[in-house]
This record gives sequence, C-alpha cells and structure tokens, in this order.
Amino acid sequence: NQVLLEVNHLKIKFHLKNGQQAKVVDDVSFAIRKGETVALVGESGSGKSITSLSIMRLLPIPPGEITAGTIKLNGKNLLDYKNKEMSNIRGKEISMIFQEPMTSLDPVFTIANQMMEGIRRHQGISKKEAREKSLQLLKEVGIANAEKVIAEYPHQLSGGMRQRVMIAIAMSNNPQLLIADEPTTALDVTVQAQILKLMMKMKEEHHSAILFITHDMSVVAETADRVMVMYAGQIVEEAPVRELFMNPKHPYTSALLKTMPNLDADVKRLPSIPGTVPPAYALPEGCRFAPRCPFAMERCHEVQPEVIHIQDEHKVRCHLFTEKGALDYDEERSFA
Ligand code: SF4
Ligand code: MG
Repeated sequence: NQVLLEVNHLKIKFHLKNGQQAKVVDDVSFAIRKGETVALVGESGSGKSITSLSIMRLLPIPPGEITAGTIKLNGKNLLDYKNKEMSNIRGKEISMIFQEPMTSLDPVFTIANQMMEGIRRHQGISKKEAREKSLQLLKEVGIANAEKVIAEYPHQLSGGMRQRVMIAIAMSNNPQLLIADEPTTALDVTVQAQILKLMMKMKEEHHSAILFITHDMSVVAETADRVMVMYAGQIVEEAPVRELFMNPKHPYTSALLKTMPNLDADVKRLPSIPGTVPPAYALPEGCRFAPRCPFAMERCHEVQPEVIHIQDEHKVRCHLFTEKGALDYDEERSFA
C-alpha cells in the first residue's frame, strides 16, 4: 500500500491585524495511501479547512504563513513548487470540493464552460472532445438530462445538482487525491446520503484517495478507512475507523462519538461537548483540551502531551497513555 500524500510536522501561523499570532496548525503529521479514504474530523475552528487549503496551496499568504513542515505528494514537496507548477497539480493530481458549490462555481459561466475549461487545460484535447467528456461525466454523477444541464448557469440548478456538478468537475482529470471539505453539510438529509454514495462510487471508478473533512461522525462511519481527530490545530488521535469507534482513547474522541445520533435516541437531546475550542491566538499552556476535559490532571495544564503510538496504526496525544497502552483510564467514566 503505497503512500500518496505525506504531511510532516506542518505548522501554520496566522498574523492577526492586532499583532497577535495564531497557531492554527501546530505540528500536524499524517499520511494518506493510494486509494484510501481518510476522514479528518473535529469541531469548527480546529484547523481542518486550513490544513486542506495548505495541501492545495490555496492558503492566503499573508496573513497565513507556513512556518515549518513538508507536504509531499508522491515524495515531492508541494511547498517547493512554483505557483505555475502548482496550478498544473491543482485540479489534476489533487482536486477539491467544498460545502457550498456556489463558492467555486462561477455564476457568470455555463456548466459547459466551467467543465470544459479544466479538462482542456489539463488534457489538451479539442473543444468537441472536452464537451463529450463533460456530458459523459455529468451522466456518471447521475444527471440524466446532461444535454440540458450543461447549457445552464449554476443558479439554475438545485443545491444537490450543483454538488453533483462539482463532483463531476473535481473528478474530470482523474485526480489521485480528492479533498472534500464538508461536502454534504449544506444539503438536506436525503440528498446528503445520495451525494455521499455518489462520491464513494466516483472515488472507486477513478481510483482516487479521499481526504474527507467533516464534523459528522456518522458520515465518518459510513465512508472512512481511517480517521484523524483534530483539536485546536493538532491531531489528537488517529486510528483505523473500526478501532476508533470501538476503542477510542482520547477523551475528545469519546466526546465526539457521543454526539452521534443513534436510531433509538431522541435527536433533540443529542449531547454536545461542553465548552468551545480555544482560539488559536490564546491556546492553553499544556494540553489544549484540558479546559474541557473531565480527566484533566495537574500536568495536563502544564505540559503539552506528545503523540504516542498505542499500536501500529493507533496514535494518541494525551497524558493518560504511555507507549504500552492505557495508564489511568477508566472506561466507565464518561461525559455527563
Ligand atoms: Fe485530558 Fe489530560 Fe489527556 Fe488532555 S492530556 S485529553 S487534559 S487527560
Ligand atoms: Mg471548515
């Protein structure tokens, strides 16, 4: 199983207008193998989107600044690429879909225009061939009346249809990596399920890997091979999906899992985690979860925990654990 993307010790700062500095991504390392689906989960403000934008080299610099680390695609550090080289990678080797397609679809161009542009740029084929290919892709994403839709403008389509078009565009050059940032969050539940299914089908057919950014653990359960949990700019736990759900270690992961709707539970009484993610310009001294953690010990407030390998593929950043496994963790204790 070959490594496709490797992020190593990535650090990203934002320089705020008032002179403060925000450590929005702080020593993040992970890898994605070819064809794999990896979920990046966490509440908003945890640094998930900033991490994905930095992989695309779409981070606004300034005010953003990558102060350390590498982002390697097939062994080559994307941070070394010139802007022009990077634009050949974007949309071809790596593509991205967002929560709201209107932010990446251009309102003044037809779907045909927008689809054909990327295909022609990366594949150097004729207009006629690019149009054929676009129609083919629209059919692949379940748009039956492709001839009609291709001539329309984004605002003429429903939210679900726009998301299908976005996926078609993202897949049009068979990317090795698709980054999906909360792609179904804005859609209603039935459309959400259809879009998720479609994404997974397209991923299989085009042999892409997916970095799936979401705050929804039920989406993770349905799609991911592996999961990374992000909190306040750091990955606090990483494990294969089954392992993470059956045997979560980090108190934050356990809390996130408790926010999952359960078929026999009353959705209105879904618990949320008390407190909020600390802002990246005012991080606590020790563990960043300590102010919200029911297990916090004295040293949690003083010393930042390092990443510990519990097993081959299971890592956690928490003082409760040593290399050999659990130290001081009572499985029965839980969030109120
Ligand atoms: Fe809780 Fe301490 Fe672990 Fe942080 S290091 S998650 S405060 S137990
Ligand atoms: Mg986000």
